[in-house]
Amino acid sequence: MKSEELYELASKYMPGGVSSPVRAYKPYPFFTSHARGSRIYDVDGRDYIDYCLAYGPLVLGHANEEVKEAVSEQIERGWLYGTPHEKEIELAKKVITHYPSIEMVRFVNSGSEATMAGIRLARGFTERNKIIKIEGGFHGAHDGVLVKAGSGATTWGIPDSQGVPEDLVRNTLQVPFNDAGLLTEVLAKNQGEVAAVIIEPVMGNVGPIPPEDNYLSEVRRITKEHEVLLIFDEVITGFRLALGGAQEFYGVSPDLTILGKIAGGGFPIGIFGGKSEIMEMVSPLGSVYQAGTFSGNPVSITAGAKTIEILEREGVPQRLNELGDNMRTALRDIIHDTGFKGYVSGVGSMFKLFFSPSGKPIRNYADALNCDKTKYLSFFRTMLSAGVFLPPSQFETNFISFAHTGEDIEKTVEVYKENVSNVSTKVVK
Ligand SMILES: *Cc1c(COP(=O)(O)O)cnc(C)c1O
Repeated sequence: MKSEELYELASKYMPGGVSSPVRAYKPYPFFTSHARGSRIYDVDGRDYIDYCLAYGPLVLGHANEEVKEAVSEQIERGWLYGTPHEKEIELAKKVITHYPSIEMVRFVNSGSEATMAGIRLARGFTERNKIIKIEGGFHGAHDGVLVKAGSGATTWGIPDSQGVPEDLVRNTLQVPFNDAGLLTEVLAKNQGEVAAVIIEPVMGNVGPIPPEDNYLSEVRRITKEHEVLLIFDEVITGFRLALGGAQEFYGVSPDLTILGKIAGGGFPIGIFGGKSEIMEMVSPLGSVYQAGTFSGNPVSITAGAKTIEILEREGVPQRLNELGDNMRTALRDIIHDTGFKGYVSGVGSMFKLFFSPSGKPIRNYADALNCDKTKYLSFFRTMLSAGVFLPPSQFETNFISFAHTGEDIEKTVEVYKENVSNVSTKVVK
């Protein structure tokens, strides 16, 4: 069956025909038949260079052979035990080696679950209720953080979801990214009441927005001063910007770290970790409860450990970042040469062309919201028909994988060049 027919069928049985809202776009999303390396293939016989990459986890590209072999071997020995197993120690050690701020971890099944537990732990540890998040920061789709969240919530214009009781988000305060002054003010106003500041060190769910000089170290200084825990949500940046994530890349240490996506090598995972003093409060040692049937399952753990092992090889993270640098430089040249009004943002292997009306830099959520998302979607469709799969939203980051070649990048830049200047503003229903 073709994508169009499958979409019609899927829409009968699943809201919007999808299992996660960001996957839906008009007139209908392509249905995938298979994927390998930098390419994703649809059931209509077309293939695309993939920069969506499942929204972040596929740092080695699709269907990496070595990860496949490791997972197949594991599956021969069973795929779920409900008991401890040796591989958990291997992955825990890798995390702790690359993240000096982490002494102990707990494995869970998704980034959402990890932030949920991480926030609970911060509240338990500090015996305070309030948290501060960044406007447009996305930490998963659970109640307490679904306030001015990025990702699908932004694309669909419903930053506050229905079904979230006001009481549940009363303790979630917001400050803009790249503004340490306002953070200080909010902390001062809520002295002694704030458990933690949770922040994506590089915003990733309103498109990539890197921190300005000294912003993260200021956030670190201020949170320390107010004795508030600092949680880095590195679900996207972890193992991508550097093996040690944004905290290594920018040299700033949080109290708690949330990992996910890449850490499971393409299989479901979430990890939260930090200093033993804090982590020892987690059950069964301590009084902060957390549990999960599939947590630490040997398949996700094996895929994650193998993926990190590959990333540890000489030059791998550097090459990823280099491909990103090349892409951003080429896109900036296009803007310069064509006079197109846009802004190229990103860092490492994360990039995005923002349809910024005046070409103004994007520093925070408000700036991102100012961009022309209708025009972006139209551009997305043009790129798709030219064989380049970008995420179907102005507010999602484009990712590059280790499977992408210099040729892939060159071809993609050509397609950008051909299409950037004649984007239709027509709304597709
Ligand atoms: C994707 C993401 C999450 C949620 O992870 P899931 O595995 O989708 O639940 C949390 N935080 C950030 C920064 C993310 O990008």
